[in-house]
Amino acid sequence: MSTTNAIAESAADPVAEVRAWLEENWDPDLTVAEWWDRLGPAGWAAPTLPANAFGRGLSRSDAVAVQREIGAFGALGSPSGLGLLLAAPTIATHGSQEQIDHYVRDIVTGRQAWCQLFSEPGAGSDLAGLTTKAERDGDEWIVNGQKVWTSLGQTADMGMLIARTNPDAPKHQGITWFAIDMHQPGVELRPLVEMTGHSMFNEVFLTDARVLNDAVIGDLNAGWAAANTTLQNERAGLGAGGGSGGAGGAMPGTVAGQLDLRAGDLVPQHAASTPTKAGPARTSGASMLTELARGLGKHTEPTIRQDLARLHTLDAVARYNGQRLKATRAAGDDIKGMANISKLLMSDVVRLSRDLGLRLLGASGTLHGYTKEQRAALDEATGNPMLAIVTGTALYAQAPPIYGGTDEIQRNIIGERALGLPKEPNNDKTTPFSDLPKNQ
Ligand SMILES: Cc1cc2nc3c(=O)[nH]c(=O)nc-3n(C[C@H](O)[C@H](O)[C@H](O)COP(=O)(O)OP(=O)(O)OC[C@H]3O[C@@H](n4cnc5c(N)ncnc54)[C@H](O)[C@@H]3O)c2cc1C
Repeated sequence: MSTTNAIAESAADPVAEVRAWLEENWDPDLTVAEWWDRLGPAGWAAPTLPANAFGRGLSRSDAVAVQREIGAFGALGSPSGLGLLLAAPTIATHGSQEQIDHYVRDIVTGRQAWCQLFSEPGAGSDLAGLTTKAERDGDEWIVNGQKVWTSLGQTADMGMLIARTNPDAPKHQGITWFAIDMHQPGVELRPLVEMTGHSMFNEVFLTDARVLNDAVIGDLNAGWAAANTTLQNERAGLGAGGGSGGAGGAMPGTVAGQLDLRAGDLVPQHAASTPTKAGPARTSGASMLTELARGLGKHTEPTIRQDLARLHTLDAVARYNGQRLKATRAAGDDIKGMANISKLLMSDVVRLSRDLGLRLLGASGTLHGYTKEQRAALDEATGNPMLAIVTGTALYAQAPPIYGGTDEIQRNIIGERALGLPKEPNNDKTTPFSDLPKNQ
C-alpha cells in the first residue's frame, strides 16, 4: 500500500517543520530500520522528491538545510548511497506510480542499496556508445555485456542499468533504463583496488542476466532521457554547492546495511566514517587547512595565505551559486549549466585542497597510512594527526574531476547547451548504432 499521498508539499519554513517532526518522532532506541520507516514515508529522507514519491518537493538548498537540522538535532540522517541520490529521482521522474511505490519506498526506508551500471570499458564520456545489450525473452530481458567503475556494486541489491535494446536506431535512441536485481547468477562483480587502498568500484560482468519487463523505467528505447536525469542529479548532488539532499546517515541494503543497529548509536560516528562517492574531501575545507597551517606555523607565509583565501573564496562562490539558483528558480527561471558549473567548481576545490594540503605537509606528505595501524604509527612519528586526512584527500582528488562526467565533458556541455556554441560535427544522431565505428 502506498502512503505517498499522505505527504504534503513543503511548508514555508521546512527547517522549523522538520524540527517539530523530529521532536515527535526521533527515538534513539529505535533500530535504524524502524527509524527510516518513520523518516522515509514522512518525506524527510529525500525531501527534494515530489510528494507522490516520498518527498516534499523542496529545493536542493532547502533539503540541505533540512539534513543539517536533522544532524544538529542529534538524529540519524537518511540512508546513504546512490539509491537516494540517483535512482530515486530518476524513478520519480520517469517511472510509473507503481514503480515509485515499489522501488522508491525501499530506497527511502533503506531496505535496498543501489549501484549505477552506466560506464563500460569503451563507453565513459561517450556513454551513448555503450554496447551492453538487452534482448527480449517473453516477460523478461536477457542482458549481456560489461560495466566498469561501478561504485559500491559489491554492496548493492539493485542496479541502475542502461543497455542497448535497439542497435538499428541511432545511438541515443536505442537505449533503455532498467532496474536490475544484482543478486543473480548472471551478475559477477570483481572489485578494483584504487590508489587510496580502498575498493570502492568494480568491474561487473553481465552474462545472460535477467530483468523483468516491469523493471523498464520510462519508455522502451527512451533510456537516454532517463539516464540524463540520473546524470543531472549526480552532477548537482556531488558538485560544490550543489549539496546532497541525500547526505547519508547510515548504510542501507541487505548486504552492508546497518538496519538492525540502534539508530542512536550511529549518530556521532557516521559523519566521519561513512564512505561516499564524494570521498574524504568533505573534511578538507579551508578552515581545516587554515588550522593545519597555524599548527605548522605556516599561516604567515604569503603564498599559503593566498591559497587559503582562494579556497575560502571558491567555497563561498559555490554556496552563493546554490543560493542564486534557488532564487532564480523561485522566480520561475533557471540558470543553464549550473549543475555543470557546480561540478567543475568541486574539481577546482579538491585540486586546490590537495595541492595546498601537500605543500603544508612538506616531505611528510609523501607518507600515507593504508591501515589503522599504519595511520597510528604515522601520527606518532610525525606528531600530525591531520596527516591521513590530507594524504587521503590528495589520493582521492583525481576522482571528482572524472566521475559524473569529466571536466572536459562539463565544459563541452556548458559550451553547447548554455552558451549555444556549435557542436562538433558528427553523424551519430542519424546513423544506426550498428553502422557506427566502435572502440575496439
Ligand atoms: C571514483 C569514480 C567513481 C565512478 N563511479 C561510477 C559508477 O558508479 N557507475 C558508473 O557507471 N560509472 C562510474 N564512474 C565512471 C565515470 O563516469 C567515467 O570514468 C567518466 O565518465 C569518464 O569515462 P572514461 O573513464 O571512460 O574516460 P574516457 O571517456 O575514455 O575519457 C578519457 C579522457 O578523454 C577526455 N575526453 C573524452 N571525450 C572527450 C570529448 N568529447 N571532448 C574533450 N575531451 C574528451 C576525457 O575528459 C578524459 O580526460 C566512476 C568514476 C570514478 C573516477
